[in-house]
Order: sequence, then structure tokens, then C-alpha cells
Amino acid sequence: MFGFGKRKPSTAIDRLRAGRWQCATCDAEHGWPFDLAARAPDPWPREPVYEPNSALRLEGDFLSEDFCVIEGRYFFVRAVLEIPVQGLEQPFGFGCWSTLSRTNFQKYVEGFDAGEYSDGEQWTGWLCNQLLNDVGDKPIGVWVQLRSGRQRPLLWVAEDAEPLAGRQDHGISPNEMLDLLRHYGHGPLD
Ligand SMILES: [Zn+2]
Repeated sequence: MFGFGKRKPSTAIDRLRAGRWQCATCDAEHGWPFDLAARAPDPWPREPVYEPNSALRLEGDFLSEDFCVIEGRYFFVRAVLEIPVQGLEQPFGFGCWSTLSRTNFQKYVEGFDAGEYSDGEQWTGWLCNQLLNDVGDKPIGVWVQLRSGRQRPLLWVAEDAEPLAGRQDHGISPNEMLDLLRHYGHGPLD
């Protein structure tokens, strides 16, 4: 019988749809939906070691899993930028950091513990983490969409001309998604 005993090579979408894969780097299985997370904004000047949120200071440098302050002048929050993957129901989530004005940062911190924000409220910020080649040295303007219930804010690329805006609108292909996972070291073991 032709091809008997031969495994049909799985396509990228099959591999992602299957939902679980053995990571090529970590000694772990990963699953879909998969979130990559940047531990700190790219401008953070040293090793990203977290302090508790409750220790937040607005002077000097501060980093926790949700808040960041640099030089008492730049304020950042941990957010999620979602990118749809064509053919999959669940988007890819890029855990990344956006700047906020000092005033909005303080409003964010005040509502944080209760997780209470007016749903859909949008602020402006700058995306401060590189994702592949889509974010160069120049930060990208984003809308920061607050969500209640202690979910991290969603980021929406505000400048239509940015390649990342197109990816957020139209999605990326499963192959591009696998390349991205491989680039960051969490692709499937081949
Ligand atoms: Zn991994």
C-alpha cells in the first residue's frame, strides 16, 4: 500500500490546531493560545527583577509585573497586544509594555486592585517592546484599551501605516506564527 506507515507531514495550522507541542528549548509542553511576554519595557536599564506591585514608587526606577517607572519620568504598564492567526479562533497574545502619561498611570494604579475601569475607555501610549522586525528603534503609537475584572489592557496600533497595524487587522498566517514562536525559542521540536 502506498505510503503505508508514513506519517503525513503536518501543516503549520495542524500543529497549532493540535493545541500542544513539545518546546524545542524549554523542558515543557506549550499550548495554544500561546502568550509571549516581555518582562520589562525595552528601555529598562538593567536585569528585570520584579518588586511587588504594592512597593510602587513614582521616583527613580521601579519594576513589578504590572507597573514600571524609569527615572521618575516615564511610566509604563503591562498590556497585551493581540494578533489574530488566520484559521485559528484564539489570537496570539504578545505580553508587552506601553507608556502612559503620569496622570493616566496614576488613574490606572488607583483602579488596579479593584479592577474597575469604565469599560472601553481608551488612552494613548507608545508600545515599548520590539516584536520581530515590526517595531524598530522608533516606538509605535497605540491605543490602550482598559478592561475591567483585572484583565490587562489591550493595545491597538494607532498608526495605520505601521506593518504591525496590518497584522493586527488581517492576522498572520500559521507559518508566520510558527516562525515567531521559533524566533523566541518556543517553537515545536522538529
Ligand atoms: Zn518554550
